[in-house]
Amino acid sequence: MNDEDAQDFIDFFDIAQSSVNATVSVERKSDYRPISLPSSISEILKTWTSTPSAALASSRVGIAPCDFISFNGMFEHTWGEGHVEQPRRLTSIIDYLHKNFWLDHQSRWKCLSGRTITDEEIRLVHSDTFLSGFLAVERGEIVDDVMSMRTLSYANANYNFKSVGPIIARACRIAAGTTLDLVSSIVRGEIDFGIALVRPAGHHSSTDQVGTFCGLNSVAIAAMYAIQILEVPRVLILDWDVHRSGGTEEIIGRISNDDQQKYRLIDIYAAFGKNSSSTNRSSNCYLIDLSQNDQLPGDEEYLETFDIKVLPDIVQFSASLIVISAGFDAAKDEAEECARLTPNGFFRMSNKLKKLNIPLVFVLEGGYREQSLVQSIGATLKALMDL
Ligand SMILES: [Zn+2]
Repeated sequence: MNDEDAQDFIDFFDIAQSSVNATVSVERKSDYRPISLPSSISEILKTWTSTPSAALASSRVGIAPCDFISFNGMFEHTWGEGHVEQPRRLTSIIDYLHKNFWLDHQSRWKCLSGRTITDEEIRLVHSDTFLSGFLAVERGEIVDDVMSMRTLSYANANYNFKSVGPIIARACRIAAGTTLDLVSSIVRGEIDFGIALVRPAGHHSSTDQVGTFCGLNSVAIAAMYAIQILEVPRVLILDWDVHRSGGTEEIIGRISNDDQQKYRLIDIYAAFGKNSSSTNRSSNCYLIDLSQNDQLPGDEEYLETFDIKVLPDIVQFSASLIVISAGFDAAKDEAEECARLTPNGFFRMSNKLKKLNIPLVFVLEGGYREQSLVQSIGATLKALMDL
């Protein structure tokens, strides 16, 4: 991504967020005609799902989804030409993981199918207002006047919402539903670690409102699902996406006193993401702002933060499950240049988490430059697989 693209990225964040409070009056131009997954990627997915699973060794990693229908549903969703969050992020990841992990390490890899989330599961986190707006999107209704869905409306202003709305909603349902199945699998003890390769992201979405680049807050829903449905005692959300979550913070921060000891958020960020108007300082939300240093935070700063703040807090909280809002946009070659983590930094952070012997579920959030994204995810997977 060149400087011009990076500026577009920043501008998009700003404009999309301000659109929440502004009037959207853009003439919608055309029906959206989605493109299906390239055949080379379909072949890879066929290989993943048709190969009998080997007896899993230690450090079993569940990858979800692995099926064509789920990936295609998320691939068909777009914010439009020129947007930094492109469907091909997913195809790059599939291609990279196949060549660098699946071919040589199938015995560590468990393929999990995706699924769509139900309305009832969405309600674990999102309000009735949010859900009714989401259902309007799903029906393809114009949602310019639906405040909870305003960011979606802006982002898709070039398309006839009747054609694009159902596709956005489907991708959101797959991203969140797949994350829930991954959590179920880890709680049942079928895998030790899980990676959800999903889009759109979710951590900027709050109880009532969709956030920039985001749909349903899959990570927050997964935490609620783990506690309320799967009866996990305590869930910690670790958000290392370079942007402050805002949405997850609002959701976790409003949990009632009785349940506060079951949920904790640790959010490490180096950019405010233009969507962090939350001033919540709830006792179960730990915010670590690395943007205040003179220089961009890199491996040294992140690892020191892990050692001094993150790991002791996880141990003190006695987390039963850690769900990581795994954005990879703190990487040094990323679009916005808010941080300068290397793949080795992601490897070492993941390795430190792995050594805690607590089940880990990584859920993809940001990360936009394809080369940087796949290397960062690859480093994370290497740590989990002891490679
Ligand atoms: Zn981000």
